[in-house]
Amino acid sequence: MNVKLFKILLVSFFVFFFLDSTIYGSNLNDKAIEKKVEKLLSKMTLDEKIGQMNQISMFEDSDQLNVLIKEGRLGSIINVANPVEINSLQRVAIEESRLGIPLLIGRDVIHGFKTIFPIPLGQAASFDPNLVKNAARVAAIEASSVGIKWTFAPMIDISRDPRWGRIAEGFGEDPYLTSVMGTAMIKGFQGDILNNFNSIMACPKHFVAYGAAEGGRDYNSTFIPERLLRNVYLPPFEAAVKAGASSIMCSFNDNDGVPSSGNEFILKQVLRKEWGFNGFVVSDWASIKEMINHGFAADEKEAAMKAVNAGVDMEMVSLTYITYLKELIKEGKVKEKTINDAVRNILRIKFRLGLFDHPYVDENQSSVIYAPSHLATAKQLAVESTILLKNAHNILPLTDEVKTIAVIGPMADAPYEQMGTWVFDGDKAYTKTPLNALKEEYGNKINIIYESALAYTRDKNTEGIAKAVKAAEQADVVLAFVGEESILSGEAHCLADLNLQGAQSQLIEALSSTGKPIITIVMAGRPLTIGKEAALSSAVLYSFHPGTMGGPAIVDLLFGKEVPSGKTPITFPKMVGQIPIYYAHTNTGRPPTGTETMLDQIPVEAGQTSLGNTSFYLDAGFEPLYPFGYGLSYTTFEYSNIKLSSYELKKNDILKISFDLKNTGKYAATEVAQLYIQDKVGSVTRPVKELKRFARVTLQPGEKRTVTFELPISELAFWNIDMKKVVEAGEFNLWVAGDSQSGEKISFKIVD
Ligand code: BGC
Repeated sequence: MNVKLFKILLVSFFVFFFLDSTIYGSNLNDKAIEKKVEKLLSKMTLDEKIGQMNQISMFEDSDQLNVLIKEGRLGSIINVANPVEINSLQRVAIEESRLGIPLLIGRDVIHGFKTIFPIPLGQAASFDPNLVKNAARVAAIEASSVGIKWTFAPMIDISRDPRWGRIAEGFGEDPYLTSVMGTAMIKGFQGDILNNFNSIMACPKHFVAYGAAEGGRDYNSTFIPERLLRNVYLPPFEAAVKAGASSIMCSFNDNDGVPSSGNEFILKQVLRKEWGFNGFVVSDWASIKEMINHGFAADEKEAAMKAVNAGVDMEMVSLTYITYLKELIKEGKVKEKTINDAVRNILRIKFRLGLFDHPYVDENQSSVIYAPSHLATAKQLAVESTILLKNAHNILPLTDEVKTIAVIGPMADAPYEQMGTWVFDGDKAYTKTPLNALKEEYGNKINIIYESALAYTRDKNTEGIAKAVKAAEQADVVLAFVGEESILSGEAHCLADLNLQGAQSQLIEALSSTGKPIITIVMAGRPLTIGKEAALSSAVLYSFHPGTMGGPAIVDLLFGKEVPSGKTPITFPKMVGQIPIYYAHTNTGRPPTGTETMLDQIPVEAGQTSLGNTSFYLDAGFEPLYPFGYGLSYTTFEYSNIKLSSYELKKNDILKISFDLKNTGKYAATEVAQLYIQDKVGSVTRPVKELKRFARVTLQPGEKRTVTFELPISELAFWNIDMKKVVEAGEFNLWVAGDSQSGEKISFKIVD
């Protein structure tokens, strides 16, 4: 090696390892960060340390905010989204506070910042983690362009209750699907490396069991025992930690009597000890103070003590830390080490985010907002997240025989409503509604008659229905756009009745009485009990609030420029009374057989006649309206030739499942092939089916392809009778199918 080359290598080595250590995510970098954290910590007063643990909202008085920042008594701000304001706040922190520690700016960027993507429940329906990741990347690029460095997403709460308004914000009922989607979103937000100028930190939430709120009423208590917690509610969070999430938000609920903000078991034992999490935990909005309402703390001081001792590092907005922690330390009720550890966790992340090196945002990046490529990604995700639930006589896609279309309903042209819940920054002026898109694409070819009939989805005034019927009578086909306004789902927006609101059901009945084919398009934040309306419709497309580009996506699907591929990420109940209803239930001692006597079949004066004595409802049976994983296409698919690499496997083997998938219809289309497994006998009862893998497979008409899933047997482990995560030997069943209720059963064995 010549001397020059040697020198270059030496210098590169030096630069790589010793200089800007925040740029590279190596272990050495972690060590370098730890050194910086310790150095800074050693200079901090107790007040400054407690200050880092304090987050307040921009809604507060801005003078008060500046004073707090100057005094080093504020670590993070939520609810600011203007780059000039953000830079000016940051300037106070950097230039006017004693130690110049940058602020962490957070915002709820839940399904897009300006360009709004389908709500997360819709994103889950795409079963397309790559696209979900791309969407989160777009959200990060837009949000970071104004100086936001932290989003309170993804919400990875498993929920099996569509009454709960926040079901819109998550990925549905299944731990595996939620883990995959949560991971994708985190990777999209955070990018390749956290300290890139356009990376934003994810904050998986709400830790934990919040989605199991009793009765589907928000903030309500949950009663999830440890085994169920570990088997169903915790796995998405464990996956999130593995995916590199550096912050986690604890939840509002108390589980089995312990509010999450004071739950040492989940925050210390599970999160830190078992999973090795080294980011920081933020409370939910005032959730520390709310432990008083829970009856878990007598006053704010006790609430602060319980939260900090349990492991909540940063307090969101309720100010109990900044008010009481110093006193609590003096009294010996909180150890100074606890504060130091919390501050370490926060500073570590501020370094990892590169905030010390690049605290300011370039104020002139407006061109990234609503960039054409962002809108294209939003459209693609809206296409893939729409589910075809019914298509009688293949009425869809519409052909050019259709000359006149009646466009009816309160969601046909509702630019704000179709964006869904949690939209702080999306501008409805950019939304393309189905009516816009129809006019734009087909206005000069097709006669479009538009009648909203109802002003909004809750509208009970039926006066407009007559006009809508008239329009329907003149049309070849009726497109009925119904659903929920965005305000009907989301935080604290729960419903006890999941039928279509207002006079929407009457509207569909009236339209169907014309005898014209009705295509019902539902845009909603949750599965609704639409059995009656589906029966009156020739076709049903279900689109969980599809966002900015929902209109063009739906229109392309209606006319066959795109073929539906979305699948239900959650079970659709027939009636609210069936809830909770989910596919991965246990079997009971008396599983239904399908031969039960239903309400209308019970003989008059039946007395004590046995009606089947199985686990079912007299009025609703036991089946859902649409099962998990369900969704039709304009084509048909055939699964055949399912083979396993072995029918007897050891616990450290990998099972390979291969099958042929054939497109047996006329359209090129994508099928979401799904793998379900049942562990037949366990030391505790096991679900009748669990999703373990899925794949989107695109096939031309007539094309057949062999698809292979690889499943390490270790992924069949569960928390057993001894509360240990193990694979238990025994017999297993397996299905490969297009939804959770079909497919041929194949058995295999796991041996010790
Ligand atoms: C919600 C969180 C959200 C926070 C900040 C709370 O009410 O539960 O999900 O991130 O507010 O807006």
